[in-house]
Amino acid sequence: MNSIENIEEKLSEVFKKIDHIAYYNSQKVISAFWQEKVGEQHFASTTGYGYGDIGRDTLEKVYASVFKAEDALVRNQFVSGTHALSTALFALLRPGDTLLYITGKPYDTLDSVIGLNNNSSSLKSYNINYEQIDLVNDNFDIESINKCLQNKDIKVVAIQRSKGYSLRKSLDILKVEKVIKEIRKINQKVIIMVDNCYCEFVDTKEPIEVGADLCVGSLIKNLGGGIATNGGYIAGKKELIHLCSERLNVAGEAKEVGPSLGANKMFFQGLYFAPSVVASSLKTAVLAAYILESKGYEVEPKWYDKRADIVQLIKFNTKEKLIRFVQGIQLGSAVDSFALPEASDMPGYDDKIIMASGSFTQGSSIELSCDGPIKKPYVAFLQGGLTYEYGKIGILKAVEYLEK
Ligand SMILES: *Cc1c(COP(=O)(O)O)cnc(C)c1O
Repeated sequence: MNSIENIEEKLSEVFKKIDHIAYYNSQKVISAFWQEKVGEQHFASTTGYGYGDIGRDTLEKVYASVFKAEDALVRNQFVSGTHALSTALFALLRPGDTLLYITGKPYDTLDSVIGLNNNSSSLKSYNINYEQIDLVNDNFDIESINKCLQNKDIKVVAIQRSKGYSLRKSLDILKVEKVIKEIRKINQKVIIMVDNCYCEFVDTKEPIEVGADLCVGSLIKNLGGGIATNGGYIAGKKELIHLCSERLNVAGEAKEVGPSLGANKMFFQGLYFAPSVVASSLKTAVLAAYILESKGYEVEPKWYDKRADIVQLIKFNTKEKLIRFVQGIQLGSAVDSFALPEASDMPGYDDKIIMASGSFTQGSSIELSCDGPIKKPYVAFLQGGLTYEYGKIGILKAVEYLEK
């Protein structure tokens, strides 16, 4: 086996491209800070109703600027990404309306939100219909999408970019841009919502720039930069953000309420670090892809592939190897390195899942983390790495434990 230095030499061109994108996105973030005149006063906190929270309001302007959106909602009242997605869907859809997912079955935690598993608080329980069009060979099925939009009255089209716990490829921004253009040819009114989890700052453009109306994500992933301790965001059209804020808070008290409770500085700083943290996560994923492929495991994406998100898939084919690798990641973590994870049932997920998350923030997956549903073909979903160096240590530790 090559020494790690030789491997990194081989990966240097890929790493350089990642650095270039991080530089571009850092310019985007710092320009937004300059434009909105971020100052010490914005780190102050509010309590109670949260009236007049200039830090929170400025943060949302900064997010809007980064996303080239009319407005944004960035809140610690969102538990995480799932909550932000759920809020957006309930805000946009009314009884009798139809939601159409054009990227196949959505992320597991949305099953109960949509009502795929008969939850009594689901969209379905409010008579909101659900339609789904699967991807074909990891691409949008334009023909079926067109037919559906022409024949049915669709209120919201949802696009999930990251693969979730499926084995499909994640969707890069160019593919999203193309499908939105196709949709707009036949329907100018349908609301296009993008689940952007794990994809922020992986490329130079974000969904609103390519025509989406609403873009949703988690702050315990990319944009929290490992600093945010919870939260979610929604960016997009002003009137849609208003609906989302009334759903999150209360009708009649839209964006004006919501105490920041000390979160403002964390959210600013997380966003500030995010381009660089995403780059570290990408390099960690590239290194893992290279090493595990060289050891005979099937990986997706490959080390040289253009990436759409920070997730690295590794197919272990046996339950034992999957568990060993995930446990190895835990052993290489900063927090709870002494704990050995076991597969268990998780709220919101269908199968038993084994999760390594030795993270400072519970469940944070912008920190080095790895999880795998205990089902064939025993695939690990690896992501995160606050710094490349710690990511590298974690990968080397996991490979060593796998082979021991
Ligand atoms: C992680 C994820 C979610 C849910 O985000 P949480 O912050 O874990 O609630 C939704 N969609 C996709 C594609 C994800 O990767």
